[in-house]
Amino acid sequence: MTATHVPGLPVIEDNQLISTNPATGEEAGRVPAADEQAVRAAVERAKEAAAWWQGLGWDGRRTRLLRWRSLLVERIDELAELTRLESGKPVNDGLIEITAAVEHLDWAARHAKKVLGPRRMRTRLLLAEHVGHLEYQPFGVVGVIGPWNYPIVTPIGPISGALAAGNAVVFKPSEYTPVVGQWLVDTFAEIVPEQPVLQAVHGLGDIGGALCRSGVGKVSFTGSTATGKKVMAACAENLVPVVIEAGGKDALIVDFDADVRAAAEAAVWGSMTNAGQTCIGIERVYAVAPVYDAFVAAVVEKAGKLRTGEEIGPITMPRQLDIIRDHIEDALAKGGRAVLGGADAVQAPYVAPTVFVDVPEDSSEIREETFGPTLTITRVSDVDEAISKANDSPYGLGGSVFGKKNAVRAARRLRSGMVAVNGTLTFVGMGNLPFGGVGESGFGRIHGEDGLREFARPKAITVRRAKSLLPAMTFERTPAQVRQIVKALRLLYGRKP
Ligand code: NAD
Repeated sequence: MTATHVPGLPVIEDNQLISTNPATGEEAGRVPAADEQAVRAAVERAKEAAAWWQGLGWDGRRTRLLRWRSLLVERIDELAELTRLESGKPVNDGLIEITAAVEHLDWAARHAKKVLGPRRMRTRLLLAEHVGHLEYQPFGVVGVIGPWNYPIVTPIGPISGALAAGNAVVFKPSEYTPVVGQWLVDTFAEIVPEQPVLQAVHGLGDIGGALCRSGVGKVSFTGSTATGKKVMAACAENLVPVVIEAGGKDALIVDFDADVRAAAEAAVWGSMTNAGQTCIGIERVYAVAPVYDAFVAAVVEKAGKLRTGEEIGPITMPRQLDIIRDHIEDALAKGGRAVLGGADAVQAPYVAPTVFVDVPEDSSEIREETFGPTLTITRVSDVDEAISKANDSPYGLGGSVFGKKNAVRAARRLRSGMVAVNGTLTFVGMGNLPFGGVGESGFGRIHGEDGLREFARPKAITVRRAKSLLPAMTFERTPAQVRQIVKALRLLYGRKP
């Protein structure tokens, strides 16, 4: 019997990766573990599968992706239950996660041809006798590396974009949720049995590293910022392009004219859903002075009703409990006041909802990703101060603004890839909107038109239609012809606007 056990990480035993139910500590399931050679073999198989998949054309791929979408809908309860077993996520949260995933799969399948299909481009001055063609060609094989916190919607975004664009995908699910990852791959194979167009390779972080070095054309990574940097470094060895969807420390701003109860409800949902283990989760609130007291009271009332073990599931990754405990202790040590939960909130594997006020801006609870059901609320004098404090973070993933008059203007000024006005996390539910961050939250986009373009290379082709009357790009041109070209240039572009 061979066993690999890095403390705090899932166990690999007899070449099987074993995942654990975080609520009970019992085995949740097991999948075959890959090694570097198996990763390379999967990518080689995927190259052949990609050629076959491309041969199906836009319409053939669309039909199959839509059939997979319908399968996910049909078996939604089974998948939500599996997610609960493996990640601890409450079933209702799982059902909503799958709903968002279905939306992205549907959108990518239906829009790939329109967004990426070939198009003719208008002739320009120097090339009057030529026509331009723009095509978006797939990379071949895309590597997708996923996290455990949203083990369905986070990988489905890049997987559906990459597949719709004509790529095959080799998917490395998180070691904490490999069974859910394998379920996605197996159900896709029920719809597309002919070729391994979507495969999974399982293991710890080294298998993600092996995927980066395996000859894939592009990597889409979702996970922590620290790992994102390692993924970029591994991909840099062969100039493999990457999308990095990393961590966040999203802020919510409550302005003077906000609906305070709606803002409180959204702040509680945005910070505590999935036990706070949400990349775009609200971790900080900046509330302007006139509404601050009412807002704090409403948040405490609403968050106080949440029950651990019911709406608040267990913390999926045991070592995250130490980080959450550290942040809570740091906030208290620096003078923060817990108005709900606090010092004893961490009761493994659960963390009770915790709400802080008066936490200084240099506390880890304000500066670092906590990834637990905790929230800080800070009083600010106006929306300008709120924006300046919200933007004072290396991260820039999402954010939220509650208010009426200035809300959309404030949303534009937040340094982040997405903002919800009078809501939280809402932008992840729209298949036609791009998703991704700035700064230490990463770069590149999944979802929407930009998310489709991530998984294809633009290719420019010019085709001569006739002999040139005014040849420019040849040594055969005469000085008189060049003068005529310059005359045309002056006519077309010389006039000052
Ligand atoms: P993680 O970085 O620990 O792991 C993510 C994945 O990377 C896993 O599959 C892991 O096995 C793999 N990995 C680990 N080391 C690797 C290496 N050296 N090379 C290649 N791959 C490697 O992240 P996690 O704990 O699974 O997920 C939580 C983090 O993900 C949080 O920071 C959260 O904010 C972030 N996240 C971001 C988004 C987003 O869209 N921006 C979405 C969900 C989660």
